[in-house]
Amino acid sequence: MPSDIFFQPITELAAALEAKKISAVELTGAVIARTRAVDGRVHAFNSFDEAGALAQAAASDARRTGGQARGPLDGIPVGLKDVIAVAGQPLTASSNMLANFVSPYDATVTRKLKDAGAVLWGRLNCDEFAMGSSTENSAFRPVHNPWDTTRVPGGSSGGSAAALAAGEAGATLGSDTGGSIRQPAALCGVVGLKPTYGLVSRYGLVAFASSLDQIGPFARTVEDAALVLGVIAGHDERDSTSCKIEIPKYRAELGRRRGPWKLGIPKEYFGEGLDPEIAAAVERAIAFYRHEGCEIKEITLPHTQYCLDAYYVIATAEASSNLARYDGIRYGHRSKDTTDAVDIYFKSRSEGFGAEVKRRIILGTYVLSSGYYDAYYLRAQKVRTLIRQDFLNAFREVDALITPTSPVPAFKIGEKSDPLALYLCDIYTIGVNLAGLPAISVPCGFTDRSLPIGAQLIGQPFQEAALLAIAHAYERAHDWGTRHPIL
Ligand code: GLN
Repeated sequence: MPSDIFFQPITELAAALEAKKISAVELTGAVIARTRAVDGRVHAFNSFDEAGALAQAAASDARRTGGQARGPLDGIPVGLKDVIAVAGQPLTASSNMLANFVSPYDATVTRKLKDAGAVLWGRLNCDEFAMGSSTENSAFRPVHNPWDTTRVPGGSSGGSAAALAAGEAGATLGSDTGGSIRQPAALCGVVGLKPTYGLVSRYGLVAFASSLDQIGPFARTVEDAALVLGVIAGHDERDSTSCKIEIPKYRAELGRRRGPWKLGIPKEYFGEGLDPEIAAAVERAIAFYRHEGCEIKEITLPHTQYCLDAYYVIATAEASSNLARYDGIRYGHRSKDTTDAVDIYFKSRSEGFGAEVKRRIILGTYVLSSGYYDAYYLRAQKVRTLIRQDFLNAFREVDALITPTSPVPAFKIGEKSDPLALYLCDIYTIGVNLAGLPAISVPCGFTDRSLPIGAQLIGQPFQEAALLAIAHAYERAHDWGTRHPIL
């Protein structure tokens, strides 16, 4: 067994399992050992169940011995962000509100991963209720970036990105409401895919902002992301927003779809506030596509400047409504010393939620309150339509867009104390959620300090196969993904 087995992509692990060069128990054991060795410095996990993972791995080995292996994910350890339900496992959303909650059921994505034979491995740390861009809002402890443990991994799915980068899982899942898969993927040097709204069921995902939330994979390679997406995508009658569309064979499509493509460069995404090293790396990625014969076209998304404002009205409004269920009565934290029902609500919520979550609830309740609804919420929805229209107009001329994923590389833990400074980290990712589009972040270089840089490709609705193929063409010609952090 190679000593760095925990850094190998799923495609290679699957081949080794198939050829019986390793067993799923050995692979899972290696990932457990790696996690034990490094997670004290990364804090990617909220919890893990070693015996449970090894039992799943043993079952996988038994299937393979009996000729019943279920495909490339069979026996691969996959970690889930701690907002995705796994029956019998903790589901905390990194909040004191749910610190002792154990999920009674599986999310649909969990069920699909189990059906594909994946070994469900660990609950991954995140910003509380997925609200944040650095994973410093976890109520338990911040996640540290494996490339430089004095820095953040991005957020809110920081644990999902950091665990993968540190070799603590074969792939992971996160959720992306305003950038929470792509931004941490960029800051940790891994691939992160946010699917089209409606492609992946949200049943069993702790709701943050329901019109924006989407589950997606983190992976070492674009091909691995295609594999995982193929397993988790598809209609689910338990999620009324999930769409009935035929799911392509994403991995097979990678080989079939070849460029040259028409790529759009939104000029609003290269302005003030963009780190020069990131700008240069993304420019080099654009030059690569040009060199490959792609037509590169500058385009405009004129309502970009309103994305952040619209998002923080819509996302907080939906959050205030979704989080009303944590009342200290049905489930979740209940304050000990209370006098009546109102006192239970008041104290349980005061004690259970952290500062950022409270900020969002207060803001969201305000924008929905009578007299303000039209001025804020309704107007934000209209702006959202214009933002979506900008993208659809662009797609009349180009196949996909290419932008930086994050304006800045990983910053120091504690460096951004002003909430607004953190909100600005999502400036290039939020428009995609408002428009419901798919987008992927792929590693495209390193800064002088050896911090990873990501490029974002934005695709047309439900055109993940094309998006993955475009990303794959870049990845194949570069070796960024072969570098690993030293821990
Ligand atoms: N950083 C954004 C926020 O704090 C997005 C979070 C997310 O995508 N879950 O709302």
